[in-house]
Amino acid sequence: MDVKADGLVLRSTDYGENDKMVTLLTAEHGKLSAAVKGVRKAGAKLRFACQPFCFAEYVFAGRCGRFTVTQASLHNGFYDIRNSVEAYYAAAGILEVADALAREELPAPTLLVCAVEALEAIDGGVVAPALARFLFEAASLAGYPVTAEELCPVCGRKIAGRRYFDMASGSFNCADCAVGVPASPSTHALLRKFSGKSVPDEETEGGAVRAVRLLRTYLSYQTDCPFETLAQSADLLG
Ligand SMILES: [Zn+2]
Repeated sequence: MDVKADGLVLRSTDYGENDKMVTLLTAEHGKLSAAVKGVRKAGAKLRFACQPFCFAEYVFAGRCGRFTVTQASLHNGFYDIRNSVEAYYAAAGILEVADALAREELPAPTLLVCAVEALEAIDGGVVAPALARFLFEAASLAGYPVTAEELCPVCGRKIAGRRYFDMASGSFNCADCAVGVPASPSTHALLRKFSGKSVPDEETEGGAVRAVRLLRTYLSYQTDCPFETLAQSADLLG
């Protein structure tokens, strides 16, 4: 039976003599692996459908979990991501996190939308804020939401000046309570903005790169995944 699904290529590996095995993130089936036959031959039509970041509508043939891609029509290849090393690593970090969080046969519509939106932004040249927002959303989808409030959850007072981020609870607290690792006001402001709060732009300035670092550490702490590509991306961003 043919199955049709929008998929984002998380990774692909060589397989057999001329084939590839592609791992996709789909809305309906979560993570889905499928063979793409003959795709390593010169002039193969489905070559694009195995490239990392390729977002396409795939048609699969097969049963019992063994699928073969028979057709693909491209939505977006995000080709401009390859024009800068910062963009490339940030985008690869998104695939790394999506790969770690998604499961086979567990629908992942929101994760797919968040990943595609972040890749669109990075493709358009907005790197650190898009990566930070994706990591914020991904943490929430993984069951570890970040709480970024104005009031310290420990003592109840307004957080001012230096602040701390508690990896165990995923929340910011004040310098008097000082639970967790030091965090900057701009990181806190940006994550409050991502939470839907109204925050002036000048308060979030410089917060995106710091937020990427903090959220990578937090996701690694919560999931036990090292997220090495993401760590390299954070280093490249400054
Ligand atoms: Zn406090």
